[in-house]
Amino acid sequence: MDEGFIRELEDEFASLILGPAAASPERAIASDPSSSAGGASASSNKNKKMPSRKNDPPMMKAMGASSLLSATQKEMAARKARKKDRKTICGRCGKDKLAGTKLQTCSRCKSINYCSESCQREHWQDGHKEECAAFVQPPLAKTFDPSDRPDVPWPVDPIHASTNENGLGIWMTTSGHMGSMLQQAFHPPEGYSSDCPLQGPPSFRRWAGLEGPNQREFGVEMKKYTGPSLVTLRIVVQNRRTDGRAIAVCAGETIMNVFGYLKNNLLPEDRPRVRFQNIQDGRELMMSMPWVDYNRRLRVAIVEVNGAVAPKGKFLPDDGEYEPPARPTGYPWNRVVDWERGQLVLGPGDYAVYCVQYPLGNGHEYACYPEIMTRTTAVAIPCYLTNVKNTEDGWFNAARMELRIVRALPGPGLPPGHFNPLAPVDFEYVEEYYRPYVDHGLDRFAVERYGKRAEKMNEFLLKTGPLQMQSMMSALPADQREEVMRRSKAMGFDMERMMRGG
Ligand SMILES: [Zn+2]
Ligand SMILES: [Zn+2]
Repeated sequence: MDEGFIRELEDEFASLILGPAAASPERAIASDPSSSAGGASASSNKNKKMPSRKNDPPMMKAMGASSLLSATQKEMAARKARKKDRKTICGRCGKDKLAGTKLQTCSRCKSINYCSESCQREHWQDGHKEECAAFVQPPLAKTFDPSDRPDVPWPVDPIHASTNENGLGIWMTTSGHMGSMLQQAFHPPEGYSSDCPLQGPPSFRRWAGLEGPNQREFGVEMKKYTGPSLVTLRIVVQNRRTDGRAIAVCAGETIMNVFGYLKNNLLPEDRPRVRFQNIQDGRELMMSMPWVDYNRRLRVAIVEVNGAVAPKGKFLPDDGEYEPPARPTGYPWNRVVDWERGQLVLGPGDYAVYCVQYPLGNGHEYACYPEIMTRTTAVAIPCYLTNVKNTEDGWFNAARMELRIVRALPGPGLPPGHFNPLAPVDFEYVEEYYRPYVDHGLDRFAVERYGKRAEKMNEFLLKTGPLQMQSMMSALPADQREEVMRRSKAMGFDMERMMRGG
């Protein structure tokens, strides 16, 4: 092992993941030329020749890809311009949280941080006043960090769809996983364990008829669920109304609209939760409700409310069975009306992040997100605009009561206050995002989307033992350690496992 190389990398450890903020500025620029100028990567993209695309899935071909680049560049430029709004720095002066500055979030839009009251006041006059109420960027969700890595031209969680209807802001991405793989049926929405036995925990085996009273032959259909076949969407919703009214969001009823080529790949149990509709040019649209899993749980997980992250469940070590977490109470969790069914009541400024999962593929034929995502047209979320204002005492209970009454109303048609915002998927953006994967495979995708730092990180980790890793991590202050964990996860590295020597 090259001692010098290790020492050099060890020296760079924090800056590799935490960015230039953690190192001295000169060094950060020297170690990574692409980080020196914000516009550099965008302009070099402009001159890049489009690679040939022999293995295009049929839908990608049909959509025609030649004019994608300009649209994507526009989006990229907009994202770069928004970088001041990222969560780790002051939106006015740029002081960095990671350099020890305490930041406070704008309490109205929760989309921007400030180091001081004067910075906030000046920025308000400078134009945040207008921006604050408008639909600009998702709130500063920990799980939806648009990333502050200047060497990476793409955000960690790219926004594949967004809309603003009736004052409800929606942003959607796929739940980021470097492998771009669909998940397996025995993985809960939040969590991934490669320690799981291939055929899943006991509850999955009973459900699939692999053992127990319903035992049946392990047929082709069941195999679909032991291969990767689930897609997870990550969605941010925020009440951006200015009139004080609360919005009830039925996250667990989020509908995913996909071109229906997967019709014949659904299990009989899933078919009642799917509707098909013919659309103009002879194609079929599939409207799919979230999956109900082998434990009869609806696959919706509320993962964050107003910046607080919900506790996660865990895999039990003995047999890989999943144990759901205890539900927290008090603020901000009182926004959650029903965890299991994914019902929320959001006052103005309140936001939530949730994951929702759909059985969409046959793991043996469709193994990656790109195919699914280029066939997804939109997501729709059933909502109710309540008559309750959050200035009233007990607005939350009143809104919850109204939600209950509205949903209990008999008869056909939609109840009053109902609206169904539809967030259309930005095909061009999705296709451009996954292009390296489709054209060149996973490794190239990782480098192009997660950057040189991810490549270096990989190189570094390959040469670092678990003990060395442990001592380096314990040398970091607690908040930086947490940040390293989070960002390395976003780059596809499981630090906890690596420290265990996995
Ligand atoms: Zn400041
Ligand atoms: Zn604001």
